[in-house]
Amino acid sequence: MQRTKILLDENDIPKTWYNIQADLKTPLDPPLNPKTKKPAGPDDLKRIFPMELIKQEMSRERYIPIPTEVREIYRIWRPTPLYRAKRLEEYLKTPAKIYYKWEGVSPPGSHKPNSAVPQAYYNKKEGVERLVTETGAGQWGSALAFSCRLFDLQCRVYMVKCSYEQKPYRRILMETWGAEVFPSPTKHTNVGRQILKKNPHTQGSLGIAISEAVEDAATHDNTHYALGSVLNHVVLHQTIIGLELKKQFQMLDEYPNIICGCVGGGSNFSGTSFPFIQDKIRGKKPDLKVVSVEPLACPTLTQGEYRYDYGDSVGLTPLLKMYTLGHTFVPAAIHAGGLRYHGDSPLLSKLTKEGYMEALAYNQEEIFEAAMIFAQTEGFIVAPESAHAIRAAIDFARICKKKKEKKIILFTNSGHGDFDLTAYDAYHNNKLKNGIYHKPT
Ligand SMILES: *Cc1c(COP(=O)(O)O)cnc(C)c1O
Repeated sequence: MQRTKILLDENDIPKTWYNIQADLKTPLDPPLNPKTKKPAGPDDLKRIFPMELIKQEMSRERYIPIPTEVREIYRIWRPTPLYRAKRLEEYLKTPAKIYYKWEGVSPPGSHKPNSAVPQAYYNKKEGVERLVTETGAGQWGSALAFSCRLFDLQCRVYMVKCSYEQKPYRRILMETWGAEVFPSPTKHTNVGRQILKKNPHTQGSLGIAISEAVEDAATHDNTHYALGSVLNHVVLHQTIIGLELKKQFQMLDEYPNIICGCVGGGSNFSGTSFPFIQDKIRGKKPDLKVVSVEPLACPTLTQGEYRYDYGDSVGLTPLLKMYTLGHTFVPAAIHAGGLRYHGDSPLLSKLTKEGYMEALAYNQEEIFEAAMIFAQTEGFIVAPESAHAIRAAIDFARICKKKKEKKIILFTNSGHGDFDLTAYDAYHNNKLKNGIYHKPT
């Protein structure tokens, strides 16, 4: 029987996350203290993160147990379905098979609660009462607001000002789950006050909002900071996606040839691909192609440099070895807000540098073309971020058509676009701007 959805049982939710640090041929370059430029240890991080997450950040254990309390909450929306995109295949007249993992079924509507839930859990367990974070378009903020509610933690979100004003719906979600949300830069932090003094009309940026949230956490006693992507522990939690996928492909008795996914800070795509890259590192799947997809307006992997850089715009965070466009870079205001970050996960960056992964970039128009094809064949209206993965999957399927190849293409559909309809409206009315990045000379 031809299946449309490949579904797992709740009891199939993995019991451990997969830590790819155990399988790297050479260890990751350590984060550096921003002042001394010496390797940062647990002491540098414990002001803003709980010990258990710091341990996960540095761990080389291959499998890390998922706490029962976290698995109980995952049951609300996990395991997520794997879909065969049959109607998309027919539309493209491709001999390739296209599959996608659908992460839009979580209450906040994306993959982000896969990490927000365990982060809230470990903080609660260590006695923290309040979490602060930043958010761009609001996906991470809403995931953290949801998770804090479940563990009875207070939550404050610094939301980039232009999104706060243009995209009220995710703010309303966060407030519905009980979080306080401020347009960043604010007058609540030194960083915010300084920036507002220099430039009272600034629209804000993710880097500035991170600086504010980190300062807030470091200067309040019962408070920690939570980050929604980039760091090793976030990527670790997201491997639940790839571990479920491996079970789903086992049920099909198949294995993907090409895996693609959108990359903002790298969490959903690392989480998807690392359990498969394990097979590639071990020499079992030498031909597996793993492709990150990013916007041409913020082409971190395709045009950035691999070097140490700060995670925020002011330089408060440890330095991370990663692909970066420079920590002061502010990308054009494309609709894929979750992909507008100057850096990328150090793990994903290293695997890209070493050739286990590659990268592609598209402009905004190409992305919305793909999102429209998907909406009109498969039905789901996806987040502009996720449409990057769809675009690449479509292009690979077209190559398969030309070459008459029956490859298996997998992509992660990271979230729904129910709160992104103004972006679709702009596309319908020819009002999208591409916002292409120009390399500094
Ligand atoms: C945040 C977000 C992304 C980008 O973040 P990653 O850490 O790269 O996964 C992609 N898609 C959606 C729907 C998001 O909310």
